[in-house]
Amino acid sequence: MEKILIADDVPANIKMLGEILKDRYEIVVATNGERALKLANDCVPDLILLDVMMPGLDGFAACERLKASARTADIPVIFITASNTEQDIVRGFTVGGVDYITKPFNPTELNARVRTHLELKLSRETLKRHSMELESINNELKEKNVLLGKALEQITLLARTDNLTGLWNRRFMMEKLKEEEIRFKRCKRPFSLVMGDIDHFKEFNDTYGHECGDRVLCAISAILRRSIREQDVVSRWGGEEFLLLLPETGISEALIVARRIRERVASNVLHYDGAPLKVTMTLGASAYDQQTGIPGSIRNADEALYLGKSQGRNRVVEFGGRS
Ligand code: GH3
Ligand code: MG
Ligand code: MG
Repeated sequence: MEKILIADDVPANIKMLGEILKDRYEIVVATNGERALKLANDCVPDLILLDVMMPGLDGFAACERLKASARTADIPVIFITASNTEQDIVRGFTVGGVDYITKPFNPTELNARVRTHLELKLSRETLKRHSMELESINNELKEKNVLLGKALEQITLLARTDNLTGLWNRRFMMEKLKEEEIRFKRCKRPFSLVMGDIDHFKEFNDTYGHECGDRVLCAISAILRRSIREQDVVSRWGGEEFLLLLPETGISEALIVARRIRERVASNVLHYDGAPLKVTMTLGASAYDQQTGIPGSIRNADEALYLGKSQGRNRVVEFGGRS
């Protein structure tokens, strides 16, 4: 049962209001402003019928204090008073009252107004609860979204990288090559490819085991990563084959990069199980050729690489023959 606090300094008024409301609501009463505040704070009624003229704390001042406290601020206050001056009515609404009923009042009208304000209060509370629920669902969704975003980033990165070496994989390199080709068509900026292959790599596997081969692959990958510019892309193209994409780079600059890599690989001392490993690499370089496109340009770098292998390995060969 909803609870209504009636505050009036005239007991007869309280009695009359109580008679009208007691069948439908639980009634608590106060005969002055201070007492009304204390009761409101203790039992937090659903609605307050507040007399304006009371000795000590009057109804307007009591209402201001009710509205200032978080515990009682949401309780609807209806002023009941003999004064019907415009000034008092305005004051009633200004201090936070929801309605203003002048004496003498019609019991049916009083009942209707009380009911209306109780229902409004219930609606406000329901709305507030729903909006809090929505906010918490929204926050949960936001958190999940952040997690999903991170997971997606992680998955995307994994799908683009080679497990063993951490270099870009063949699929991602193909995407980058296509992008570069599109840029070439638009701005005619030359770019080059370098294909590198570790010499006699099988022997590391055969002599020291597969794990040794893996270590060699990782060491070479680190050298490759250290030897390129930020805009270059280095990928593990196959088993012990690496493809480099060098944007805005002509063939002579590409040869410089390839030679630097060859030297670094050859001079790097790698140990496995205490044994020094002599690792070398053969590299083939080609400038992007618009006639043959990406597949043809890769074939050209590969052709240069295999020419280098046939010429004795540990060397850099330009497509077309020069080494
Ligand atoms: P060449 O100088 O002509 O390139 O000779 P090679 O021995 O380097 O080339 P070959 O193609 O005969 O052998 C490559 C070997 O690389 C064969 C394959 O088992 C091995 N391999 C491929 N992927 C991996 C890998 O991820 N880890 C290891 N340890 N070995 C691999
Ligand atoms: Mg090889
Ligand atoms: Mg090979």
